[in-house]
Amino acid sequence: MKLYNTLTRKSEEFVPLEPGRVKMYVCGPTVYDYFHIGNARPFIVFDVFRRYLEYRGYRVTLAQNITDVDDKIINKATSEGIAAQEVARRYTEAYFEDLERLDIHRADVQPRATETIPQMIEFIQRLIDKGYAYDHDGNVYFRVRKFKNYGQLSGKSVDQLKSGARVAVDERKEDPLDFALWKAAKPGEPSWPSPWGEGRPGWHLECSVMATSILGDTLDIHAGGTDLIFPHHENEIAQSEAATGQRFVRYWMHNELLHFEGEKMSKSLGNFEYAREITERYGPEAVRYFYLAKHYRTPISFSHRAMAEARRAVERVYRLLEEIESQAQSAAEPELNEAQLSERGRALLGKLSQTREAFISHMDDDFNTAGALGQLFELVRELNLCISEDLQPAELPLLRAGEQLIRELGRPLGLFQGAPWQEVQEGLQGELIELLIEVRSQLRIKREYQLADEIRQRLSRLGVELKDQDRRTLWSYGTASQGSDERARA
Ligand SMILES: [Zn+2]
Repeated sequence: MKLYNTLTRKSEEFVPLEPGRVKMYVCGPTVYDYFHIGNARPFIVFDVFRRYLEYRGYRVTLAQNITDVDDKIINKATSEGIAAQEVARRYTEAYFEDLERLDIHRADVQPRATETIPQMIEFIQRLIDKGYAYDHDGNVYFRVRKFKNYGQLSGKSVDQLKSGARVAVDERKEDPLDFALWKAAKPGEPSWPSPWGEGRPGWHLECSVMATSILGDTLDIHAGGTDLIFPHHENEIAQSEAATGQRFVRYWMHNELLHFEGEKMSKSLGNFEYAREITERYGPEAVRYFYLAKHYRTPISFSHRAMAEARRAVERVYRLLEEIESQAQSAAEPELNEAQLSERGRALLGKLSQTREAFISHMDDDFNTAGALGQLFELVRELNLCISEDLQPAELPLLRAGEQLIRELGRPLGLFQGAPWQEVQEGLQGELIELLIEVRSQLRIKREYQLADEIRQRLSRLGVELKDQDRRTLWSYGTASQGSDERARA
């Protein structure tokens, strides 16, 4: 298996430290809000990667942090007039709900920062003892220039960084490049006692401590979005290797980001859609397919059209599975007899025998889910042709084998495991709701507000709520509706 390693900027043969075992860490969420659809990319992509490693027979231990103390959490708590712990509790719960909605398996170990404070204090003390960190008025900083390999992951030299605009001068630091490991408490903020006074850990430190305390000094794989390469992952390497004296990570994997209207999707830019809303609207498999149909190192643009296309692609497979099941029910299944196969049947047999191998060879090539899905869809096309062109009874076992193969290869992707009839019905339901929304917006353009409002109300009685936003109409099952078509007239 080959993986592109961000650290060496090369595709490398994947060799875990211990044969057959993989120790893997993926940066987790800061729990101050629901995660947006762009944040879902690393969660989905590395969930699939982990499942694929398991499919290939590896025993994987995945650890992921939950950052439950942070400036963003404190700011949210202040603006809502509630305790920071309450914000963290609420959105940790929401995080797990959203993972489940998207069928993302939970990590084996999911430590919360606030439950790991003693280990963090011990880690900082080790860095101070080794001369890599210093205390200034209750703040502890990492001495970046003392760590000789700083900049190896991001490809930036210390001197380049120094002249960069990101680095602001801070009187408390020996060098502007130094970053905080421990932050002295400010009034009203959550804090813990430490040898340097009351305070809380810095974000970069959390990942180093949680990763090494759970997985050991050296991880096989550390993954996250490209936006975390600098400074977060660069700092993780510096802290961890300074503290342990060992190589921290063997393979660094980074997914590219989701773009929205030409920019990175982000909360701070305000151009985002919540993952839970998109999942509700298009279904979890459409969201997973949307990401997996592209290579994880390729940027993707978000659009509702692309999501709808992803949903249609998933439905195409379910419709086929449904068709195969109904064919198999309507006839006794004969043994496979190659001599009786039509030309079409022989082509399908050939496709069946090569699909698994081709799928694996794409996945083994730096986790090329796009190529692997392409193989699966070629098989789907062959199966559909076979069904539509006068199916012979002798070909029924081939359809069954096709169904089983789609199910098998879909499993590591988290796709095509549902009941076909139900999936097709749910997809149809979504299409019908969107059709009604389209009719309603046409009515509004023609100023037929009464009829438009009737559609909205009747949908609401069925538990479907519409929300008009930025010239688009969003729908969801059962959240409070806003606005009225009557009022839109004013
Ligand atoms: Zn991290």
